[in-house]
Amino acid sequence: QTHFPFHSLQAKMSRPVQARRLEGIDKNIWVEFVKLAATYSKVNLGQGFPDFPAPGFLTEAFTRALGGGNHMLHQYTRAFGHPPLVKVLAQFFEKLLGRDLDPMTNVMVTVGAYQALFCCFQALVDEGDEVIIIEPFFDCYEPMVKMAGGTPVFVPLRPNPPKDGKLMSSADWQLDPAELASKFSERTKAIVLNSPNNPLGKVFSRGELGLIAELCVEHDVLCISDEVYEWLVYDGKQHIRIASLQGMWDRTLIIGSAGKTFSATGWKVGWVVGPDRLLQHLRTVHQNSVYHCATIAQEAVAQGFQRELMLYGKPESYFVQLPKELQQKRDWLVQSLDDVGMKPIVPEGTYFLVADISQFKSDVPDVPNSDEPYDYRFAKWMVKNKGLAAIPLSAFYSEAHKNNYTHFIRFCFAKEEVTLKAANDILKKWKQEKTSS
Ligand code: PMP
Repeated sequence: QTHFPFHSLQAKMSRPVQARRLEGIDKNIWVEFVKLAATYSKVNLGQGFPDFPAPGFLTEAFTRALGGGNHMLHQYTRAFGHPPLVKVLAQFFEKLLGRDLDPMTNVMVTVGAYQALFCCFQALVDEGDEVIIIEPFFDCYEPMVKMAGGTPVFVPLRPNPPKDGKLMSSADWQLDPAELASKFSERTKAIVLNSPNNPLGKVFSRGELGLIAELCVEHDVLCISDEVYEWLVYDGKQHIRIASLQGMWDRTLIIGSAGKTFSATGWKVGWVVGPDRLLQHLRTVHQNSVYHCATIAQEAVAQGFQRELMLYGKPESYFVQLPKELQQKRDWLVQSLDDVGMKPIVPEGTYFLVADISQFKSDVPDVPNSDEPYDYRFAKWMVKNKGLAAIPLSAFYSEAHKNNYTHFIRFCFAKEEVTLKAANDILKKWKQEKTSS
């Protein structure tokens, strides 16, 4: 007789291996669509990254840091941010916010904006806390809130189509003030604001930010302000930082990304700027998880910011040039889409554009009772049959609201002229086939 019969060994293996907090968040849009794009796309306007080079001054700074005489740049640096980077970020944000900042306590460097967000939720959200998320939203907010034990509470931007036959703008998607107010309660710990917003490209107006700020102050709610597209604003619009509104500095964490700011998403350098009373807790999470971000990348980003500080507001500034170039790319893509009847929603900011696919529905028939939203099926069909990759908009909605937004897809236009031209060719040919069939 044995004490370890075979069946009991098997029984032990049937115990769930994953932690409960991962339940229901194991599906991820990026895993699926990045793979589809890699397999089928000829033109990839899906995931958000530029296919043009990062600016020379930045890559040269990296090369200098790598090959220059300072071998200590290959070692650990200060955990909460390489001193030259936190210093210049503090100087830069002092200018933007009009307040004095301490580089050591008001700035923390992270592994991209992703880790900045993760630190925020882990540090601030407890079991039972509610976090308000404005839909459509950058998809990771929801699983990050859940992993922290919190409950996401969604409030949608509601589209108001223009009546004059003009193209819709991202500004036509608005919060209903009463609906927003109804989501705040004593359980609300934080609201996530993302302006300029991915995926719509909406740049929140001073009035909209004022409304959010008033509610945050009234209900003592924190604001996690994801501003990774802060420099990508078009048509002379201005990006307004909610932290600069009355009563907001003490309750706001500003999140940024060198990946978006300097067109170098692979470097994964991000930051959080905010009051020490909040940042001290983010430091605890950061210290005990990733510890710090690659020293050389931080050194190069610091030099990039030093350049930008010197050229602030001048025509040579990358923060002035990049949006100019992107605005032109936006206009090209708007035109291409409008020409074929895939109605674009003109974004005020970011490098994303959402388009209405209703007129193309006859090409990709709906499957009644399928649990896959129509836009997912459309985007999959499009990449497989037309070689054009985009992301379904419903991926940026909670499960409960997905089915209200299944006739839009998101394109990224941070692409070389040839890439956008190739997309235009695909769309034109498709339209011709449609009209001749
Ligand atoms: N926030 C938003 C709104 C984003 O779109 C992204 C990247 N797509 C991130 C955060 C993450 O940025 P990073 O690459 O710096 O981690």
